[in-house]
Amino acid sequence: MISWAVGPRWCAPSSRLTKARSRKERTVMCRRTTKSVRMRMRGPTEARVQKGSRTVMRRWLAVLFAVALLASPVAFAGGSERIGELLEKAEGVRSSDALAFRRLLREANEARADASETQREQLDYLNAYSLTTGGRFPEAIAAAKSLLATTTDKNLRVRASALLVNSYGATRQFAEGLRQLERTLAWLPESDDPRMRVHAMVSASILYNLIGQYEHGLDYATRLQKLALSPREKCFARYTEAEARFFLGKSTDSADIATVVDFCASIREAILSNLGRQLLARQLADNGQRKKAIALLKNHLADVEATRYPRLIGETHALLAQYMLEEESLVSAEEHAKAAIAHSTDIAYSQPLVMAYHTLYELAQRAGDARAALDYFRKYAEADKAYLNEVKARELAYQIVRQETLQKSQQISVLDQENQVLQLQRKVDQQAAQNTRLIVILLVLLVASIGYWAFKIKRVQLSLKKMAETDALTGICNRHHFTIRAERALAECARNGEQAALIMYDLDHFKNINDRFGHGTGDWALKEVAEASKGFCRRIDVLGRLGGEEFAILMYGCDLRAAARVAEDCRVRLAQIDTRETGHVFAITGSFGVTSSVQSGYSLARLLSHADRQLYRAKHLGRNRVCVYENESEAVRAASNVLELPQRERSEHLGA
Ligand code: GH3
Ligand code: MG
Ligand code: MG
Repeated sequence: MISWAVGPRWCAPSSRLTKARSRKERTVMCRRTTKSVRMRMRGPTEARVQKGSRTVMRRWLAVLFAVALLASPVAFAGGSERIGELLEKAEGVRSSDALAFRRLLREANEARADASETQREQLDYLNAYSLTTGGRFPEAIAAAKSLLATTTDKNLRVRASALLVNSYGATRQFAEGLRQLERTLAWLPESDDPRMRVHAMVSASILYNLIGQYEHGLDYATRLQKLALSPREKCFARYTEAEARFFLGKSTDSADIATVVDFCASIREAILSNLGRQLLARQLADNGQRKKAIALLKNHLADVEATRYPRLIGETHALLAQYMLEEESLVSAEEHAKAAIAHSTDIAYSQPLVMAYHTLYELAQRAGDARAALDYFRKYAEADKAYLNEVKARELAYQIVRQETLQKSQQISVLDQENQVLQLQRKVDQQAAQNTRLIVILLVLLVASIGYWAFKIKRVQLSLKKMAETDALTGICNRHHFTIRAERALAECARNGEQAALIMYDLDHFKNINDRFGHGTGDWALKEVAEASKGFCRRIDVLGRLGGEEFAILMYGCDLRAAARVAEDCRVRLAQIDTRETGHVFAITGSFGVTSSVQSGYSLARLLSHADRQLYRAKHLGRNRVCVYENESEAVRAASNVLELPQRERSEHLGA
C-alpha cells in the first residue's frame, strides 16, 4: 500500500521573452558607470569639469531612470520565469528522482521572493508534497490545510485536498481521510482542469486500498485508467489496480504484476515500481518461489533505499527478513528485521514491525535465547495488537464515514424534498398570483366594455332623445317636446307667482313660396325663421315648431306687453330676412298672436287657444302683424302692419 500525492506537471511561464540582465549584472554596470563619471570629472579646468560633470550626471541620471523603469518588470518577469522553470522541473521529477526534486525545490524556495502569487501557491503545494515524501505527514497536513484555507485557485484546491487525503491515510487518520476525500470529490465539478479528476481518483483509490476497501480501490483504479493519463499516472493506476486485485485474491498471475513493475520502472518511477516488486515478491513467495522473491527484493534494495520512503524501505526489509528466515538465512534475516524496525519506528503503520518482530522472535527462539525471544514476542504482540487495532480502526472509520455520508445524503434528500415542496408552493403561489392578475384583467376588461357599451347606449339614447325632441328640419323643439317643456315652465311660473306669455306665429302665404320657388326654398325659409326666432329667446324661454310653418315661444316671467314687444321685434326681423342666397328675392312675413298668463291662465292649451285666436285675427286683418289677446278688447285696435298696443306703449317698443 502506498500514500503520496500524484499530480500533473504544472506549466510555468515561458522564458523566451526575457533577455534582461540579472539584478547583479545591473548593479555591477551601475557601479562602473558611476566610476566612469567620476573619472571624467577630473578635467583641465574646474569650471569646465563642473559644467561637463553636471551634464554627464544629468544624462546618466536619465539613463539610470530609464533603465530602472525598463528593468523592474523585466527583472520581475525574469525571476518569475526562473522560478517557473524550477517548479516545472520539480513537478517533473517529484516522484521519480527524490534528490533532484529536493534540490529544485530548495532553489525555488530561495527564489520565492520573485514568485508570482500562483507560483507561490504551487511552491507551497510542492513543499507540502515534499514533506509527505520525507514521511513528515503532520507537517504536510498542516501545510496542505493552510494552503486550502487561503487558496482561491479551484484546481489547486483539489490538488492540495488530494494530498491531504493521502497524508491522512499515511497517518492512519482514516475517518478524516475519507471525509476529506468526499470534499475533494465534491469540489471536482468546480474545477476547470480535467487533470484534477485524475488527482481526486488517484487519492480515492489510494485511500480505499489503504483502509482495506479494495473493491472501492479497484473501482477507482479501473475508472482512472479510462481517463487521459500521463505515463506516471498510468503507472500509478495500474499499480493500484494490481494491488487491489492482489489483496482481493482476484489475480494470481505474477506476469501481470511484472508488467506493471516493468512499465513503472521504464519511466523511472522508483517508489511505484518497488512497491510493485513487493507485490510481485509476495506473489512469488505465495507460489513457492521464495528464492526468486528474495532475489527480486535484494536486487532492488539499493533502489528502494534511494527513494528514502520509510514505509517502502521498512516493508521491503520486513519481507526480506521473513523470507530469509524461511530460507534459513538467519544472519541476513536478523539484519533485515532490524533494518525494518529501524525504518518503521517513526511511522504509524505497524505491519513491517509485526513481521520484523515476529522474525526476530523466531530467530531468538531458534538461537535458544529465551529472554530475547520473550522480549521480541512481547514487542511482536504489541505491534500485532496495534496492527489489529488499526485494522479495526480503519474498518470503523469506513463504517462511521459511510453512516455519516448516508445520513448526509438522507438529510440532503429531506432538504431536497422540502425544497421541492417549497418550489411547488412557490409555483402554486405564482399560479394564484397569475390567476388573480387574470381575474383583475378580466374584470377591468368587463368594466371597460360595460362602460363602453353604457357610453354607446347613452349616446344612442341621447341621440334618440334628441331626435324625439327636436324638429329635424329646424333643430328647435318639436310640438311634443315644446308642449312638455312649456307645461313644465308654466307650472314653475305658477308656483313662483311669475307671469308667462305665449307668442304664436304662422308664416304668411307660405304655400306661395313653395309653389313659386320650390319646396327646398320653403325649407330654407323655415330654417331661417327658426334661426331668427332663437335670437329673441332666453335660455329659460321655450321655442318650438308646432307644425308646418307655425311656431310658438313661451316666455318665462314675461308679461303681456313685453311679449307683444318681442313678437313685434320678431315680426320685423322676419321681414328683414335676406332671401338672395336662394337665388330669389321674396318677403318672409308672419302673423303673430300673443297672450299671457294674466289673460289666459297657466294652462298651455288655453294659452295656445287664445294666442291662436289672435293669430287668426292678425291673418284676418291682413297678415304681417301682431295681435294681442286682451279680455276687455278682443276687437281690432290697430291698423294692419301695426302692433295692436296703446299708442304710448307702441312708441316705447319701437324705440321712439
Ligand atoms: P296663410 O297666410 O293663410 O297662412 O297662407 P298659407 O299658404 O301659409 O297657408 P296654408 O296652410 O294653406 O299653407 C301652408 C303650407 O305650408 C302648406 C305646405 O305645403 C307648407 N308646408 C308645411 N310644412 C312644410 C315644410 O316642412 N316645408 C315646406 N317647404 N313647406 C311646408
Ligand atoms: Mg301660413
Ligand atoms: Mg299654417
